[in-house]
Amino acid sequence: MFMEWKITFRQHNIKMATRSGIGYDVHRLIESRPLILGGVEIASEKGLDGHSDADVLSHAIADALLGAVGLPDIGHFFPPTDESIKGISSLEILSRVAFELNELGAVIVNLDSTLIAEKPKILPYADEMKENISQSLGIDPKLIGIKATTNEQLGFLGREEGMAAMAVASVEL
Ligand code: MG
Repeated sequence: MFMEWKITFRQHNIKMATRSGIGYDVHRLIESRPLILGGVEIASEKGLDGHSDADVLSHAIADALLGAVGLPDIGHFFPPTDESIKGISSLEILSRVAFELNELGAVIVNLDSTLIAEKPKILPYADEMKENISQSLGIDPKLIGIKATTNEQLGFLGREEGMAAMAVASVEL
């Protein structure tokens, strides 16, 4: 009797469609590392640890863009075992991601991101971050959202053991 509810989705016969991707990343906070977020070095007692510059915000954005077009995550393109990319700027990672998207004929519609950290306040740096990211991706900074929230002092983020970031991206392909 439920067969009357059965539907078959029509195949899209349009050439381009808007696709979305999600990205999430976490890096540990340690002493004697610079804190780099959105390609901006921010004065801080601790910085993020990682194989690259550990720019957690840029990594979440990179994965959102790759996911939107069905490509593997940044670990595939930049494996942590590759010594030649040790300390690489994550803005370079974003440039590579933009290159891969362009190869597929994809166009970035917009992206949005949220940093989850007890500090610092990133609003004063948001415009500079957008400028860096927009230049790496070859898009207008107006297409980029950067926001931040604390974790209300809860869990590993609240104890300032690390920082996390989430991002979503929309892409025409
Ligand atoms: Mg990462």
